[in-house]
Amino acid sequence: MAQKEDVFKKIVSHCKEYGFVFPSSELYDGLGAVYDYGQMGVELKNNIKRYWWEAMTLLHSNIVGIDSAVFMHPTIWKASGHVDAFNDPLIDNRDSKKRYRADVLIEDEIAKIDDKINAEVEKAAKRFGESFDEAMFRQTNARVLERQAKRDELHSRFEKAMNANDLDELKQIILDYEIVDPISGTKNWTDVRQFNLMFKTQMGSSSDNTMDVYLRPETAQGIFVNFLNVQKTGRMRIPFGIAQIGKAFRNEIVARQFIFRMREFEQMEMQFFVRPGEELEWFNKWKETRLAWHKALGMGDEKYRFHDHEKLAHYANAATDIEFQMPFGFKEVEGIHSRTNFDLSQHEKFSGKKVQYFDPELNQSYTPFVIETSIGVDRMFLSVMCSSFEENETRVVLHLPKPLAPVKCAILPLVKKDGMPEKAMEIMQALKYDFACQYDEKDSVGKRYRRQDAIGTPYCITVDGQTLEDNTVTLRDRDTMEQTRVAIDELPAIIGRECSLNSLLKKLEA
Ligand code: ATP
Repeated sequence: MAQKEDVFKKIVSHCKEYGFVFPSSELYDGLGAVYDYGQMGVELKNNIKRYWWEAMTLLHSNIVGIDSAVFMHPTIWKASGHVDAFNDPLIDNRDSKKRYRADVLIEDEIAKIDDKINAEVEKAAKRFGESFDEAMFRQTNARVLERQAKRDELHSRFEKAMNANDLDELKQIILDYEIVDPISGTKNWTDVRQFNLMFKTQMGSSSDNTMDVYLRPETAQGIFVNFLNVQKTGRMRIPFGIAQIGKAFRNEIVARQFIFRMREFEQMEMQFFVRPGEELEWFNKWKETRLAWHKALGMGDEKYRFHDHEKLAHYANAATDIEFQMPFGFKEVEGIHSRTNFDLSQHEKFSGKKVQYFDPELNQSYTPFVIETSIGVDRMFLSVMCSSFEENETRVVLHLPKPLAPVKCAILPLVKKDGMPEKAMEIMQALKYDFACQYDEKDSVGKRYRRQDAIGTPYCITVDGQTLEDNTVTLRDRDTMEQTRVAIDELPAIIGRECSLNSLLKKLEA
């Protein structure tokens, strides 16, 4: 565990050192859970967004995009339920003066018991070797059974309290299970209070005509309130989808784990409108489609899993998360939700306008049902970074999926003389319209390779004496470090095959 935490720390400092992610307002000592993307980070982030956008809009003729405003009419957030229910239960420790999410404290306690049970099982597995029967051990070992019973009781009390929104019971659980503040180590807790996660601000210039507005906590509502606009002007027929990428804001109580939980972040959301009754079939299709999108990046199929929700929001009839194996465990990167006709019906009710679709094939009007796919750009970025980072005795390298790499190739004259720089610039001139290139002539070639490894550049092209004679260069592969001699004319095809987004998109359709 300690080792994994070390790796995560290294990833965070690597992100800063190489211009991927900086803490926001660093000159002024930072701003909690807000981050800036640097010169490398913005390229990687844009490539992630482009991969998602093109997979949605180019590969599906029935999906179109929009870009709606961050500010929206405040009644929208009443209709969506965010004003009344977008809350987290918070609790303070009087000694450390730290604030926590009560639900997270309890979930962590459950996870601790799970860890203890698993440690018991692992110990026994080692002791018994080949003959170990794990299921039998879990059913019969007294210590495991005792712990399991404690865990189940805690879990069921917790679930009941969350479902009933019972804040007193949440506090009671924390007291009964003697959960202590990880910092002060004390049980000196305040009462649990609800805390709305939306940021509020005022719109308007004079005091009598200002209006309270919110920074949107999700991009989805911008899609729902434009459903009719897009459907009518785009002459869209159900089933169809609307995609959007944009910023979202949540005043998260506990911001942890770097860019995993931020107060300003970016979402890529797609709402897919279907006939009532067909939603579960589409839900399953979108689960598969989205998982395939992740897997095509080649970061390792075993690093993903679905986590189906047991507890559904009142408006949903199915929901799952795609979780990715981060150094701190499997964590949600994307949510896929079958949201019934809740959002469109609510907007119909609150706006007083008809928000329905006339289905020419059925010759009837109805409120479409919705499947939502919602992924955080920053969490996706973090998962890419975590799975790509490798440090060994000789180098630090980012094995980024090649089409996502900020720089696709570096062009390096072996020495700064004998016409090599000029030749290198000539190659750069030919490649730069199709691929992000970097030219580097400083330091030894070995040092330059290391610099490119650290930012995940898939190819280094070295120009040497022979290049001037026969127009060949050495092409070094980031992952294998193998160098091959290739003709300059072949470079666009080789780099294109491995690094273009097209090749990745084609994989999705194969
Ligand atoms: P969590 O349970 O982790 O708070 P959530 O279930 O509230 O997430 P959704 O409302 O389903 O998240 O949002 C969809 C996606 O947006 C998430 O899968 C995640 O990738 C991203 N996301 C949500 N909150 C944040 C945040 N504070 N920082 C970064 N990304 C976020």
